Amino acid sequence: MILAMLTCNYLGRFAPSPTGALHAGSLATALGSWLHARAHNGKWLLRIEDLDLPRCIPGADKIIIQQLLACGLEWDEEVEYQSKRTSFYQNALNELIESEKSFACRCTRKQIEDALLTLGHKKQRHEELIYPGTCRHTKDIVEPCAWRLRVDDEDLRKTVGDFVLRRADGIFTYQLAVVVDDALQGITHIVRGADLLDNTPRQIYLQKQLGYKQPQYLHLPLVLDENNEKLSKQTLAKAIHTDSPENCLKALQAAAQHLGLRDDRLHEESPPKLSKWLEIAIENYRAILKSE
Ligand code: GLU
Repeated sequence: MILAMLTCNYLGRFAPSPTGALHAGSLATALGSWLHARAHNGKWLLRIEDLDLPRCIPGADKIIIQQLLACGLEWDEEVEYQSKRTSFYQNALNELIESEKSFACRCTRKQIEDALLTLGHKKQRHEELIYPGTCRHTKDIVEPCAWRLRVDDEDLRKTVGDFVLRRADGIFTYQLAVVVDDALQGITHIVRGADLLDNTPRQIYLQKQLGYKQPQYLHLPLVLDENNEKLSKQTLAKAIHTDSPENCLKALQAAAQHLGLRDDRLHEESPPKLSKWLEIAIENYRAILKSE
């Protein structure tokens, strides 16, 4: 089984949102996903997820790119930017609208909250309200409106409900864009942080609705700060320093430690050169895969 995996066609990706520079957590994800691809002799792509412009920081994409290059985590094809791919998302949405799998919704957050209160549940999940189905059967389309996916899976209905594919302000959501991109780019393996784990059932469901193949998923443990919180811009995570090869190696050593790479040669105080270090890391990662 593992051997079959090691020889299959592998296309992986790292898909950061340009909301800030890479920190110890995002570097660990980048390294884990890069190693997973390289250990399978696979290809690895870089996709900048810059759809939610109000959250993006101008220039953060360039900084992330520099940081990855400085750490030797190189990718195989041209960098893709989601902001340049919106026609693909619109096509997928049109397909779902035509097959009546997506419906227009003009509910405000307040209306959804009120409808949920009336139904007797107040439960919230990551600030995302479980949509009570208000507009499911409305045929009129009055812009501006959001477009939601009709969710018929029982578990998903209980946990997220009909989720948004395109917001009323015209922005395509992460769920739609990531599923369309992964499919159109032919991604076979998605290796990302465990913070995204609860998005995966939604994405698999959406893949099914669009007739896409399901990639394999691996969710890596998150790097936590001293308060046991995920490193993020909100928790003021510090950018990794990649201004010298020594600093890159230090950051990579911490990421490798987090990922469970225990080969002593990786953790020496004066480690080998970056390219050699990465080779050892691939070898170590491959050994871990084989032993599983
Ligand atoms: N853009 C997402 C993030 O930075 C990651 C998307 C994914 O890997 O599916 O959190």
